[in-house]
Amino acid sequence: LSSVVIVGAGQAGFQVAASLRQGGFTGRISLINNEPGLPYQRPPLSKAYLLGKITASNLAFRPEAFFDQQQIELLQDDAIAIDRQNQHVVLASGKSLQYDHLVLATGAHNRPLSVPGDDLQGVFGIKTLADADALAPRVKDARNVVVIGSGFIGLEFAAVAAALGASVHVVDLGDRPMARAVSSEMAAVFRQTHESWGVQFHFHQGVTRLIGENGQITAIETTDGKVLPAELLVYGIGVIPNITIANEAGLAIENGIKVDANLLTSDPHISAIGDVACFPCIQNEGEHTRIESVPNAMEQARTVASRLLGNASPFNALPWFWTDQGNLKLQIAGLSSGYDNTVILGSEATQQFSVLCFRKGQLVAVESCNRPGDHLAGKKILSRPPELTSAEASAPDFDLKTWEL
Ligand code: FAD
Repeated sequence: LSSVVIVGAGQAGFQVAASLRQGGFTGRISLINNEPGLPYQRPPLSKAYLLGKITASNLAFRPEAFFDQQQIELLQDDAIAIDRQNQHVVLASGKSLQYDHLVLATGAHNRPLSVPGDDLQGVFGIKTLADADALAPRVKDARNVVVIGSGFIGLEFAAVAAALGASVHVVDLGDRPMARAVSSEMAAVFRQTHESWGVQFHFHQGVTRLIGENGQITAIETTDGKVLPAELLVYGIGVIPNITIANEAGLAIENGIKVDANLLTSDPHISAIGDVACFPCIQNEGEHTRIESVPNAMEQARTVASRLLGNASPFNALPWFWTDQGNLKLQIAGLSSGYDNTVILGSEATQQFSVLCFRKGQLVAVESCNRPGDHLAGKKILSRPPELTSAEASAPDFDLKTWEL
C-alpha cells in the first residue's frame, strides 16, 4: 500500500491520517479538506466557543507545522467524484488523485428546517466554525431566542443563550428533551434544570413558519398556532450523512455509507468512517447503525489505520457520548435504545446521579450526570460480557465503582 487518500478532514479523517503516520506508514497520505483553515474539533462550537471560553486557534487538532512534519498532504479542495475502476478521486480544482486505499470521512450536514421563512437572517444551524463565528456575536445581544429541536446541540445552545441572559423557548416534536439519546429519568432532570435557568419548553410542537421584518426573523409560529418572539433561531433537528460521491460511485448506501464489521464499503479499496458510516453495531444487536460522536469517529479511524497497517480487527468499540449544558455534565456509556428497566444511583436532587439502563435484565447503558467515576466504571463493565443485573444494582448500598473492581 503506497497511497491513501482521505476525503473529509474532520474528526475521523484527521485521526486516520495521524494514526497511519503514528503506526509507521511511509506512503503518501492526502487529506482533502473542503472547509477553510486547519482541521478542527466541533464540540466546543455549541458550548465553550460561543461563551468565548475557547478561541479558534484552540480548536485546531494540530498546528500547521504538524502536517508538514508528518508529511500529510492537506489539500484545500472538494472531492466531487470517485473513479473506482482507475482508483482515482476527482477534485473540484480539476486535480485527480490516485489511491491504493480511499477513506471516506465526509461527515453529515444539518437537516434543513424547510419551513417558510427559513431564509431570514438570524436563522442558524451549528455545524461549522463559520456557523459559530456568525452566531457568537448575535447570541450575546439576543433577548428572545428560539431553539428548534431539544437534542444535544439544541440544548447546549439553549444553556448558552440562557447563561447570556436571553429568554429562551425550545420547541420539539417529542415529549421530552434528548428523547433519542437518554432515559426519561435523565431527560426529566435536564428539563427541570433548564427550566430553572428560565428555558421554556414546548413539546409535541413543530414550527409552521418563521415571521420576519425587513429580512430579519422576529418570531416563529408553532403547530398549535402559538407565536413566539425570536430575533435569533437555532435549529438542531438531526443530520443527513454526506453520501453524494459514494452514492454516485455506486457504493452500497443504507442510512449513510454501508460498511461491514471491518468498516469496508462494498468496494474493498474503500473504507468509510465517522458520522457518515453505517456499521453493524454489536451494542445494537448487530443492526446497521450510524453514530454521531467524537469517540466513534476516532475509534473507527484507528481501526481503519490498523487494518491498513496490517492488523485487521473488527470494529467493536463501546459507543460513548458526552454533553455539557450549564453546570450539568452528562456522560453516556453504551446505547440505551430499547431499555426496559432502570436503576438510579446517587441523588437526582443534587444533580449528581447515574441512571443504569437495562434491557432484558442486562446492563446496556450507564448515563452519568456529574458522576465521572460512574462513567469510567460503566465503560469498563460494558466493555466486558454482560454480567451486572438489575437485581444486583438495586441492592441498597450498591456502588458501581467498587463492583467494577
Ligand atoms: P466531521 O467532523 O463533520 O467532518 C467531515 C468533514 O468532511 C467536513 O469538514 C466536511 O465539510 C468534509 N467533507 C464532506 N464532503 C466532502 C467532500 N466531498 N470533499 C472534501 N471534504 C468533504 N460529539 C461528541 O462526541 N461530543 C460533543 O459534545 C459533540 N458536540 C458537537 C457539537 C456540534 C456543534 C457539532 C456540529 C457536533 C458535535 N459532536 C459532538 C459530533 C462530532 O463533532 C462528530 O460526531 C464528529 O465531528 C464526526 O467526525 P467526522 O469526521 O465523521 O465528520
